[in-house]
This record gives sequence, structure tokens and C-alpha cells, in this order.
Amino acid sequence: MTIPFIDLQTQYKKHQIEIQASINAVLEHGRYIMGPEIDRLETELQKFTGANYAIACGSGTDALLLALMSAGVGKGDAIYTTPYSFFATAEVISLVGATPVFVDVDPVTYNIDPIALAIIIKQTISKGEVNPKGIIPVDLFGHPADYDAINTVAVEHELFVLQDAAQSFGALYKGARTCSNTPLAATSFFPAKPLGCYGDGGAVFTNDADVAETMKSIRVHGQGQDKYDNVRLGLNARMDSIQAAVLIEKMKFYETEIELRQRVAEQYSKSLKDHVNTPKIAEDCTSVWAQYSITSEYRDAIRAALSDKQIPTAMYYPTPIHLSTAYAHLDHQVGDFPVSESLSKTMFSLPMHPYLEKHQIDIICGVINSTVQSLNHG
Ligand SMILES: *Cc1c(COP(=O)(O)O)cnc(C)c1O
Repeated sequence: MTIPFIDLQTQYKKHQIEIQASINAVLEHGRYIMGPEIDRLETELQKFTGANYAIACGSGTDALLLALMSAGVGKGDAIYTTPYSFFATAEVISLVGATPVFVDVDPVTYNIDPIALAIIIKQTISKGEVNPKGIIPVDLFGHPADYDAINTVAVEHELFVLQDAAQSFGALYKGARTCSNTPLAATSFFPAKPLGCYGDGGAVFTNDADVAETMKSIRVHGQGQDKYDNVRLGLNARMDSIQAAVLIEKMKFYETEIELRQRVAEQYSKSLKDHVNTPKIAEDCTSVWAQYSITSEYRDAIRAALSDKQIPTAMYYPTPIHLSTAYAHLDHQVGDFPVSESLSKTMFSLPMHPYLEKHQIDIICGVINSTVQSLNHG
């Protein structure tokens, strides 16, 4: 029996009847774009997160773009984020014409280091080339960033904070769900994220009614009150009704799945903690375990041993964004962000989904621990 990295089939089989009925309702009413499911999903997302406004959109990337465009980000602006994320986090900054300014991550949580952030903002100000405008913290692997510290720095320098919660939807920061911790937040419902639909999908969140109106307008080509008068430039960033129909059903059991993910993570950590570096969750936070990621100097040997047993692993992220070809023009050097660079050489992720069974976790941990033991004694 093979162990999948992510198992979407078990979930589908368990909830097939409701999910199919929900999709069929869209096929019957025929409003494939902006159908009634979009409003219903947005209401559920607001209730779940505690944010005043949730706006469903085409992907996590669209969600980040909607937020940046609503904040008027453009040429000459500096947006702070980490180089240890999925490429889209930096990409959207460049797509609106602004400059990504990277800040290294904390070695324990892998999220933006608020102390380094404050130092780098001051450096930007004294150089005077670009204008500090906003911060995009990333909740890596499902663990919320340090929002109290980040929001304090943001207020001091009058910057907006856009939470990239693509991996952390449903996690808690000091008792509050992600997507409610900052003035702007974006998430993704890509199938492999903790809450995924059956295609691309995302949502953007705010507490501000005017910002919400602007983002809704940008979602449909900058549409104004009069549908035939476009009041600004926008995007085609709508979510399909079918994806909303899937998410409405999946949200009904998402909290149960978060608990199951937590149980999987706990078993992994208990079994592995003496042989590799297991994830540490900050006090007052929970993770939704988008990935269960560990670091080891023996990464390549462990991955090879797991692969021999048909156990898949993945690397997030072998190339930190500042060293990617697309950002060669920023002229970063190896050594600029040592924590991110070190993680890119030692980090890897194990199979993670709510339906991973105890005996499967035992098999995976057995291979990892025996590989490390033999290398330590070899
Ligand atoms: C997945 C992801 C995105 C992009 O989401 P899509 O829905 O794939 O566009 C952005 N940021 C992070 C951190 C992600 O993991």
C-alpha cells in the first residue's frame, strides 16, 4: 500500500453525496459565474474568520493582487516580505510595479523576523530609493506570524499589513482566526491547501467597508455602480460558482479536519523529536499544518530512504526567492538571508492530510529514525 503525500480521495469518498449535490445545484441553476453560492460562501467565511468582509476570488494569487491594488501599491513602493515562501508572495508585489524588499525569517517559526523587519525598514528610509508602503507576512506551513510585533512596527511606520494566509486558513493567533489578525488578509483554496476546492480559488479579507467595496470592484474589471462604467483598472478575479459550492460543503467538516491534522502532527513530533528538528508552535498559536516540515542535515539521505519505500516527500523551498532567476535583477548574493538559505538546504515535508493513519505514520517515522541512527553511528 502506498502512502500519498496528500489524500484528497478519502475526503471526497466520505462526503461525495453532499459535494455532488452542491455541484449539481449549480449545474441546474446555471449561474456559473457569481451565482448565489458566492454570497453564501462569503457569509460562511466571515463567520468562520471573524473578519467583517470576505471576498471570494479566483486564487490565492488573485487575493494578494486584489489587496495590493486596493491599497494603491505601485511603482516606487517598497513591500516587505520574506524570501522563504511560495514564489507568488513576491511575484504579486512586482506585478503591481512595486519592489519586494526581503526580510529574513525567524529560525524557529520560519516566519518574518519582526526585529529584522524594523531594521530593514529604517535602512530603506535612509537610502531613500523606494517608499515603504506595506508588509506581507507569510504564515508558513500553517503557523501564524508574530502579528502583535508586526502590527506594532507597521503602525510606527504607517504601513499596511497584508497577511498571506494561503497556508494557514483556520489557524489561531491569540484566540483569533487567521484572516482577522491584520487590516488585509489573503488565502488560497488551491486543492492541496488545508481547505481546498476542486480547482483554483481564494479569498481576501478586511474589516473596512470601503476597502471591501474597492476589492469587489477590482474583482470585476474595476466595475462601478453602473455596470457599463468602469471606474478603475481591475482584473477578472472571480471565483466560479462550482468552486464556492464545493467549499460551502467542505467548510462544514473543516474544523474536524483541523483536529485530525493536529493529531497527525502530534504523532509525528512525538516519534521524531529525538532524531530531526520537529516544528515548534509559538505560545498562543495553533497551526493547521499545511505542511509537516522538518529539518535535518541528513535531508537528502532521509528523502532517499523514504523514496525507496515509496513514501513521497517534498521540499518547500529549495530556492529562496531572492536567489531565484526571476529576481536576479535585485542583485542579491548568497549570504544575504542566512536563515532562509540554511532552511532551503535542510527543510523537507512529510505526507500530511487528515486521514493519515497511525500505522502509516509509524512506518514513515521508523524509516526516518533508523536512517538518522545509522548515519550517526556510521
Ligand atoms: C499557495 C500560495 C499562494 C498562492 O495561492 P494560489 O491559490 O496558488 O494562487 C500564495 N502564497 C503562499 C504562501 C502560498 O502557499
